[in-house]
Amino acid sequence: MNIVLLGSPASGKGTQAEILSKKFNLFHLSTGDIARKLAETDPRIKEIINSGKLIPPEEITMHVLDFLENKKPDLRDILFEGFPRFISQYEALDNFLKSKGDDIDVVISLEVPMDVAIKRISARWMCSGCGEIFNTESKPPKSFGVCDKCSGTLVQRDDDKPEAIKTRFEYYLQNTKELIDYADVKGNLTKVNGDRPIEEIAKDLEEIVRKAKEDDQN
Ligand SMILES: [Zn+2]
Repeated sequence: MNIVLLGSPASGKGTQAEILSKKFNLFHLSTGDIARKLAETDPRIKEIINSGKLIPPEEITMHVLDFLENKKPDLRDILFEGFPRFISQYEALDNFLKSKGDDIDVVISLEVPMDVAIKRISARWMCSGCGEIFNTESKPPKSFGVCDKCSGTLVQRDDDKPEAIKTRFEYYLQNTKELIDYADVKGNLTKVNGDRPIEEIAKDLEEIVRKAKEDDQN
C-alpha cells in the first residue's frame, strides 16, 4: 500500500506524515529531505532551494526513483510526502511502482486556506545567534524578540514573511491543482481539512489509510 500526502506550505503535512508513518509502520519519503541532502553536495541545487524555487520536476522524479531503488527496493508501504506534485511525476512514479507489481493506492490532499498558512508561518521566529526556532503561537519566547537560550535577537526568515508565503502558497496551488483534479478523476483522491487540531486531522487520516489498506488486501 502506497500513499501520497499533498499539502501547501504550513498545511501541517510534515507533522501528519510523521504520525501516520509511525502508526502504520510506513516508509516516510520526504522530498524536502531528499532535496536538502542533495543541496549539501550540489551548489546548483542549493541555490535553487535558497531562492525558494523548485527543482525541475523531471530531476526530482529521477532522484526519488533513485532513492527508492537504493533505500526501499521492495517498494512496499511508502508514504510519499510532497511528491508527486505534477501529473507527469505521478505517472512516472505510478509506472515505476507498477513495473514492480505495486501502485499508488490513495492521494490525500491536506488543505488549509491561505490566511491560515500565512498566520502559521509568520508566527515563526529564529534566533540570529544560535538558530533556535520560536513560534509566537505555540512556543513563544519569554520576552518578545529575544532568545531564551542565548539572548540573541529573533528574526524572521525572508521566506517566512507574509508576502513570500503568499507567493509560495499560490505557486503550490497553481502547480498541484492539475494533479489534484487528475487524482480526483481517477477516483483515489481524498481531501482533508487541515485547519483543525493536529489530533483531529490525524484521526481522519488514520481512517483513510486503514480503509486503503483493507482495499489493498482485498
Ligand atoms: Zn539563541
